[in-house]
Amino acid sequence: MDKQQIDTLVERWVRPEIQELSAYHVPDASGLIKLDAMENPYTWPEDLRREWLDLLQTVDVNRYPDPQAAAVTARLHQAMGVPAESRLLLGNGSDELIQMLAMTLGGPGRTILSVEPGFVMYSMIARFVGMEYVGVPLRPDDFSLDMPALLQAIDQHQPALLFLAYPNNPSGNLFPEQELLQIIEAAPGVVVIDEAYAPFTDASFMSRVDGFPNLLVMRTVSKMGLAGLRLGLLAGAPEWIGQIDKTRLPYNINVLTQVSAEFALRHQGVFDAQTGDIRRQRSVLFDALQAVDGVTPFPSDANFILVRMPQGRAQEIHAALRERGVLVKCLHGAHPLLRDCLRITVGTPEENGSFMEALAEVL
Ligand SMILES: *Cc1c(COP(=O)(O)O)cnc(C)c1O
Repeated sequence: MDKQQIDTLVERWVRPEIQELSAYHVPDASGLIKLDAMENPYTWPEDLRREWLDLLQTVDVNRYPDPQAAAVTARLHQAMGVPAESRLLLGNGSDELIQMLAMTLGGPGRTILSVEPGFVMYSMIARFVGMEYVGVPLRPDDFSLDMPALLQAIDQHQPALLFLAYPNNPSGNLFPEQELLQIIEAAPGVVVIDEAYAPFTDASFMSRVDGFPNLLVMRTVSKMGLAGLRLGLLAGAPEWIGQIDKTRLPYNINVLTQVSAEFALRHQGVFDAQTGDIRRQRSVLFDALQAVDGVTPFPSDANFILVRMPQGRAQEIHAALRERGVLVKCLHGAHPLLRDCLRITVGTPEENGSFMEALAEVL
């Protein structure tokens, strides 16, 4: 086959904005202590695992799953404290919900607005569906909202969709509630509060999702300990959810995910204990980092800590940590405000200890 011919065809037909993108890169983590992806480090107790496997034996994988995923939807409604009048829409991870929102509200000249540095999927998905993307910079010293700039951008760009992660990824901070309320009031379109890190903070807009005509709240089971299942949820008024649901592909939540998530949420105490432990370890890790000369951890309400390394050394330190068996995320180069920054997911006490030892060696 003529490679050149394929290249010519690809160049002619693949949308230019897709050709420009680089695919989302996930590094190989085999054999490493994995502190790069905000996963829960704990597995399930043995008896729970056995009970789960027994349940899986009863699943008919020859049949399509329940298209409405009714059982797990009802369980999530209750577990996530969704107001009774609000409806839920499930996605194959909350990433798929972001995509459904963009397909529903997108169109020529329509805009997604968010803050930077923020969650990369908002801008990537804007690109996929041909929407404009506007990222308003956070303040450089503490990643707080630059309210005048944000309100000005809302006024200028009239975004169809505005995403704010609460707490924010990758900075880990919570924005002040009053400022978010001001943004919800000012936004002409839909505001999505992305509560991916809800298990690690007491702050939430979920109980008030029915209090505003343009507010939707998004969550995921990924960060609480079920990242492998791929299950996210969007809560909001039935009028919005009914429209967004039209863009959902049939059977988007597979039968193993439906059964497993429903089972896991029946044992929520196990996950609450794990995420409670991670919250305590977060403060142990923060204090340890703060005691290290030359590095600056930023306060976090999530299960990770953003840390600024000595100037010009983040990439070298990231590589040296990896040599010593610890994988963290290097964010230097991802955005100007993230210069010299690494992001460390909070692991078990042992994993965090290994990371701190490795860091002391490489600094
Ligand atoms: C991790 C993350 C998500 C993605 O969650 P999935 O349900 O695993 O797709 C969404 N938003 C933010 C801010 C995240 O950090």
